[in-house]
Amino acid sequence: MSEQVTLPPLREVVKKHGLSANKSLGQNFLFDSHLLSRIAAVPGSLDGERVFEVGPGPGGLTRALLQSGAIVTAVERDDRCLPALDELSAHFPGQLNVTAGDALKIDMAALFQEPFHILSNLPYNIGSALLVQWLSEDGWPPIWKSLTLMFQREVAERIVAEPGTNAYGRLSILAQWRCNAKIAMNVHRSAFTPPPKVTSAVVHLTPKDQPEGVQPKLLEQLTQRVFSQRRKMLRQSMKSMRGGLEALEAAKIDNQRRPETVSVGEFIRLARQLSS
Ligand code: SAM
Repeated sequence: MSEQVTLPPLREVVKKHGLSANKSLGQNFLFDSHLLSRIAAVPGSLDGERVFEVGPGPGGLTRALLQSGAIVTAVERDDRCLPALDELSAHFPGQLNVTAGDALKIDMAALFQEPFHILSNLPYNIGSALLVQWLSEDGWPPIWKSLTLMFQREVAERIVAEPGTNAYGRLSILAQWRCNAKIAMNVHRSAFTPPPKVTSAVVHLTPKDQPEGVQPKLLEQLTQRVFSQRRKMLRQSMKSMRGGLEALEAAKIDNQRRPETVSVGEFIRLARQLSS
C-alpha cells in the first residue's frame, strides 16, 4: 500500500487542465474518492499487483489504484488528459505509465509479460467491444487475472443474465462460458460528471480454469445468429447454417426451443457439434 499522498481535489485538476467532458469519447468522470476506493477494492488487494486501466481521464480511478499500491499501465485516447496524468505520476514514482492511444487497438501482449488485472470506468461506446475482445482470446486462461468494469446497468445485466430471462443473450454466453461473472455494485447516475441518462454497474469477472474447448469465433457466430432472431425457434434460425439442424440433433437440443431457454453448457455442446 502506498503512503498517503496529498493530492489536489480532482475537480481542480479538471478545471486547471480544461477537461470539459467530451461526449463522443464517453467521458463521464467520477470524483467521489470513497466510491473510487470501493471500485478499486473489488478485485481484492492490489498491493504490488499490475493493473491495466482503460481511459484514466483526469485520473480519479487511477488515484485509487495507485493508493492501493497497484502498478498501473493506462491507455487514454484524449491527449488533453495527459498533462494531468503526468502530474499524478510524479506523486507515485515508478507506479504509473500512461500510453496515448486507442484501447481497441492496443497490443496487450506487448504491454504485459506478467499477469495483471484490468479495471476501468469504461467509455460506454466501446465497452462491449472491449469485453468481447478480452473474452475471445484463443488461449485460456488468459494473462489477465480479473476484469472489474463499469457498464450501463442494462449491459451489466446482460453479462450476468440467466437463461429464460429477457437479458440473456450473446454477451451472457460469451462471458459465462469462460468466466465467473457477478455485479459487484450499482452506481447511481448522479455519481458521474456529467451524469449519464441511466444507472451504471460494476461487473467483476474472473476466468474459469478450464472451460470446455470451443472456438470463440464459432460460438460468437452461433449466438449472434440465433439471438438476432430471439423469438424464433432454433430450427428456423439454424436451418440456413451449414450442418445446423444436424448439429442440434447431435447435441440433443429440441429444435423447437427458443434461444433464450438454451443454457451456456448447451450452446457449447452445439458449437462443438458444428465444428466437428
Ligand atoms: N477513469 C475516469 C473516471 O473514472 O473518471 C474517466 C472515465 S470516462 C467514463 C472514459 C475515459 O475513456 C475517458 O477519459 C475517455 O477519454 C477515454 N476513452 C474513450 N475512448 C477511448 C479509447 N478508445 N481508448 C482509450 N481511452 C478511451
